[in-house]
Amino acid sequence: MADAGEKGGSSLLIIILDTNPVWWGRKKVSDEQFSLSHCVDCITVLANSHLMLAHKNKLAVIAAHTDSSVFLYPQYPGKQTAAAKLPDDGQYEVFGQVEGQLRAQLKMLIMQDKEEIDEMYDVPERPSDSLIAGAMAVALCYAHRLEKECPIGEAMSTRLLVIKGSEDCPAQYMNFMNAVFTSQKQNIIIDACILDKDSGLLQQACDITGGMYLKIPQLQGLLQYLMWVFLPDPSTRVKMALPPRAQVDYRAACFCHRNLIDIGYVCSVCLSIYCSFSPICSTCQTTFKILGPQKLKRKKKS
Ligand SMILES: [Zn+2]
Ligand SMILES: [Zn+2]
Repeated sequence: MADAGEKGGSSLLIIILDTNPVWWGRKKVSDEQFSLSHCVDCITVLANSHLMLAHKNKLAVIAAHTDSSVFLYPQYPGKQTAAAKLPDDGQYEVFGQVEGQLRAQLKMLIMQDKEEIDEMYDVPERPSDSLIAGAMAVALCYAHRLEKECPIGEAMSTRLLVIKGSEDCPAQYMNFMNAVFTSQKQNIIIDACILDKDSGLLQQACDITGGMYLKIPQLQGLLQYLMWVFLPDPSTRVKMALPPRAQVDYRAACFCHRNLIDIGYVCSVCLSIYCSFSPICSTCQTTFKILGPQKLKRKKKS
């Protein structure tokens, strides 16, 4: 596989995993075998395969939770709370670390949730969407830092893979699109692996950055899709017969109600989008004149 590693550079793969407890909790009965644990197994295999392709390849896994984004791998230095699993005999040390840290960090995340729920009398309803935009911003910062640390003359290519099950959150539209355009500027490709309903926002993200968008037809085959579609780097993908590109839903969210709209009003100054006419733009405070019938100008008497 013609990975960036072979050309002397390294390849950074950042996996964003949607860990929304609401979605993982209400999975369909027919997919009983498919759990978060199974998903993490698949991700571990993908991650290890990526690390195996080239010695310099790097990896990061970030969990997008309901209200936070947490690094599952690597851990922050100095925050060694989760005990890493000791490698089995003959297992490459890094593989053992990846697996152990992913599982330990996820466990901590879930236990924190449980503690919060136990402490509260009436449990507020958990949002059914995840902080994908936040996790993407964290990923971009991390990629930026690694790029800066890269030795001079060495190139690093970065890819983002979002594995998402929960619904889109139009409230994150602005932050999400900002992250997408930043990725585009930084030549970072965004891939999306959708486990449930189609995501209009991620379709746009993949289309803009030249990534691959795929809604998994069968959850049981997640590992196969990850390995065949998302493991090869973009230069290799050109030579492969991959699933056809999805139709992109290019609707934007209005800034007033965060609804996805087909036709709306656009502020001529700051390009904010509104679903109904408002005389004052709430983003840039520009006042618009309401067009009434034009007054007839009086002829000047000479
Ligand atoms: Zn609106
Ligand atoms: Zn405006």
